[in-house]
Amino acid sequence: MILSQKNLGISQSLTLSIDAKAKKMLSEGYDVIGFGAGEPDFPTPDYIIRAAKDALDQGMTRYTPSSGTLHLRQAICRKLEKDNHIVYTPDEIIVSNGAKHSLYNIFQAILNPGDEVIIPRPYWLSYPEMVKMADGVSVYLNTEEDNSFKIRIEELRKAVTPKTKALVLNNPSNPCGSVYEKHELAAIAGLAVERGFYIVSDEIYEELTYDGMQHVSIASLSEEVKEVTLTVNGMSKAYAMTGWRIGYTAGPRHVIKIMSNIQSHSTSNPNSIAQYASSAALDAPKEQIKHMVQEFDRRRLYMAEKINSIPYLSCIKPKGAFYMMMNISKAIGKRYGDTIIDNSLTFADALLESQKVTVVPGMAFGADNYVRLSYAISMDKIKKGLDRIEKFMSELV
Ligand code: PMP
Ligand code: GLU
Repeated sequence: MILSQKNLGISQSLTLSIDAKAKKMLSEGYDVIGFGAGEPDFPTPDYIIRAAKDALDQGMTRYTPSSGTLHLRQAICRKLEKDNHIVYTPDEIIVSNGAKHSLYNIFQAILNPGDEVIIPRPYWLSYPEMVKMADGVSVYLNTEEDNSFKIRIEELRKAVTPKTKALVLNNPSNPCGSVYEKHELAAIAGLAVERGFYIVSDEIYEELTYDGMQHVSIASLSEEVKEVTLTVNGMSKAYAMTGWRIGYTAGPRHVIKIMSNIQSHSTSNPNSIAQYASSAALDAPKEQIKHMVQEFDRRRLYMAEKINSIPYLSCIKPKGAFYMMMNISKAIGKRYGDTIIDNSLTFADALLESQKVTVVPGMAFGADNYVRLSYAISMDKIKKGLDRIEKFMSELV
């Protein structure tokens, strides 16, 4: 039997599989330190758990409208107005099964075969695969470490063609932790309005910024920008709710309508209990988020200092999210035992094999001179893991 040619070319998510590998090795008794984790290591706050229990007690166990309950969409509107200064109505919101599903629906809704989507590189690994699944073409826009891995407007201008349908803007970004200033966003927004392409603004890490950086939603800059922007967010990172699977999109009504139609035939509504708990989460004060951000910040500072003290390794201090891109370019070409470290994959494999430390090879993000380390793991593990990396580096010849 011949399977779908298009989907045979879709790769497995390496971030998810590395995380699963580390968890499996741990359960088998190996002393593994997993820097692969893309999820907060904090529990979901109590008041959210209580809301889920209430939802069960109240019998909220049935289908909801497929694009999410009005109750949650109203809570999302309040959140977007209060935190992001963008005014939406509930029919401009769709709730999906995680922000990943929101993004998938967006590309399904806006792309025709051959449409181009500009993706800044290093990129979160699911964007190109999602574009491919929607018959689009990814156009990579290189960003550099010396510009904090941010888009340069003149480079973006050159990448735009008559086929450009959208730009993916991940702010704060995974894997680089870049956070955009308002004036940088204004330049990008101006170009999108001038040339007529969508901005897919993935803001899932919005709460996680450091060094006094303030996250700005690009759709808040003007009515015209709002008309071409699809703002994506979700509960996974800020509320430590990765397993609950709630994400959402806010955008022009006609795009949201198509996404809703697609969702109504594919997954129907996201989990009813998780939806109810999410509205409780969004309406509550943000004390627990603040505490989580402080802890991430402490780990970030420790890691940056330690990495930069290890010979042949370096990193810049990310301003957001909970990932660090560790520059391994000076280690490429060296040998560990019989293994030649010729790319980020062999680096990651040798490190796991010899030190039981998992990192995500930069190759997965289109950046082979790097490996990604998450600091969504405890300080103790971070210290232990980086000591092992230091040992590994000292054994390279
Ligand atoms: N966007 C980015 C950049 C991410 O890192 C993630 C992490 N999984 C997501 C979207 C999707 O998150 P979720 O599906 O858990 O809401
Ligand atoms: N987004 C997280 C990461 O990049 C979680 C894994 C995933 O969804 O791919 O590690």
